[in-house]
Amino acid sequence: MSGPGADVAEVRAWVRAARRLVVFTGAGVSAESGIPTFRDALTGLWARFDPEQLATEAAFRANPAMVWRWYAERRAAIARAQPNAAHRAIAALERGGARLAVVTQNIDGLHARAGSREVLELHGNIMRARCLEGCGDPERIDAKFDWRADPREPPPCPRCGSPLRPDVVWFGELLPQDVLARAQRAALRCDLMLVVGTSALVHPAAGLPMLAREAGARIVVVNPDRTPLDAVAAGVLRGAAGAVLPELFEKPG
Ligand code: NAD
Ligand code: ZN
Repeated sequence: MSGPGADVAEVRAWVRAARRLVVFTGAGVSAESGIPTFRDALTGLWARFDPEQLATEAAFRANPAMVWRWYAERRAAIARAQPNAAHRAIAALERGGARLAVVTQNIDGLHARAGSREVLELHGNIMRARCLEGCGDPERIDAKFDWRADPREPPPCPRCGSPLRPDVVWFGELLPQDVLARAQRAALRCDLMLVVGTSALVHPAAGLPMLAREAGARIVVVNPDRTPLDAVAAGVLRGAAGAVLPELFEKPG
């Protein structure tokens, strides 16, 4: 299960010794919950689309009902899914007293559902909606009415009547700057960053491991496949997150 540089026992010792830990996750950490990665989600009815044809503001403005429906299907699948052993292991480590921040590119909310308290969602959350014209905050929209009730087309913003959109970051959009800033601070301050289930290709999120490394942290990659970060990682643990993380975080003796 281990790759170049370190084995599970050695990385376990680094986890125990870490004063501040960041667990940086991508779609792979939710794969064992049955949530398809972005490209895998474009199957069946959606097979003829590129992500760029659905996950952009231009696509939404051109065909709001179609884009809304695609997100409604993904939202329903995520609502049915459960956190897996990887999400649970991360939450348990934090509960056990580790100073740990989860920085995730995922929009599925499964880290929080598993019990993680400190979760920085870089790409938003599919379970929230916000006004297309930006008039109000998603929490208030959520509290106002059940916008999930009609999946066929975007409901109107309760405040200004513009369509609601999913509160996720689309191609070509900025990340929520306050969340990104907090993630960058966490990366700069940690001494160990576990990079779990991400191809580490989508910027600026993918820059966080290098930021941590340049600030002196060890990087450990957990992934069944090769990633561009393997070359700079102090350890590479090849395997599924749901198998590797519980083993990595288990209590001594
Ligand atoms: P990605 O699809 O580019 O890469 C997924 C990575 O996970 C790959 O490196 C793959 O080898 C690895 N992987 C697959 N199964 C795994 C497992 N069981 N355990 C550990 N690793 C596994 O995903 P990305 O890097 O997150 O970037 C894609 C973008 O799309 C991101 O913004 C992401 O948040 C978004 N997205 C999110 C979700 C979600 O919220 N669950 C799903 C799809 C896409
Ligand atoms: Zn509005």
